[in-house]
Amino acid sequence: MKNVIFIAAPATGKGTFSNMLMERCGYNHISTGDLLRNIVKTNTSLGNEVSEVLKSGKLVNDELIFKILKDALKQMDLQNPFIIDGLPRNINQAYYLNNLFNEINIDNYLAINLDLEYEIALKRALGRLSCPNCGTTYNKFFDEFKPKEENICDKCGSVLDSRTDDNEESFKQRFETYQNNVNPILEYYKNNNKLLKINTHEFTNEEIFDIIMNAVK
Ligand code: AMP
Repeated sequence: MKNVIFIAAPATGKGTFSNMLMERCGYNHISTGDLLRNIVKTNTSLGNEVSEVLKSGKLVNDELIFKILKDALKQMDLQNPFIIDGLPRNINQAYYLNNLFNEINIDNYLAINLDLEYEIALKRALGRLSCPNCGTTYNKFFDEFKPKEENICDKCGSVLDSRTDDNEESFKQRFETYQNNVNPILEYYKNNNKLLKINTHEFTNEEIFDIIMNAVK
């Protein structure tokens, strides 16, 4: 199986497809967003700084991102295929990742671009809920993804949370940040024959999963 890098507009489902790859195919997972949210929870001055950046929808500085990526990769068993979810967010990060892969002899990977129109992505983000205990995700605006009981996790009964950056203002900034940076990244992976592009609105989640499976096998 190929390793996977997700390059995705916000709320296009990179968390969902990462979970499917982990549960069904044994992938390991590095999410730079999750790692940053863990730093926020430490309540240190770095945590507070990161929290402000996340709320604004802008990008955290590359230096911190490179450090957390390198640490996370070091701790991972590279015998299993892995997903990098949330990086690269700019071309500089793509070059850095390439150098890191060269250092650890990784060439077997695919960059998967998940794309979606602004209005649909916004609706998904504003309805998104997740369980702070078991990580299951829901969406209150889509019947098939609603929890059975309002705001309660079907699996473990915990009260569901929404992300502090899933409000309209932060979302707009996150989407703009994505659009301002994504083209050179896509060009880079396309030129290296590593790119798979999927418009997630055209397919169901299971269809997208099949497309991904066919490409990574
Ligand atoms: P995500 O969970 O991937 O939607 O990321 C949430 C937020 O974390 C983003 O809006 C950024 O503020 C920050 N973030 C995540 N990954 C990166 C990255 N590779 N570079 C810079 N900032 C990032």
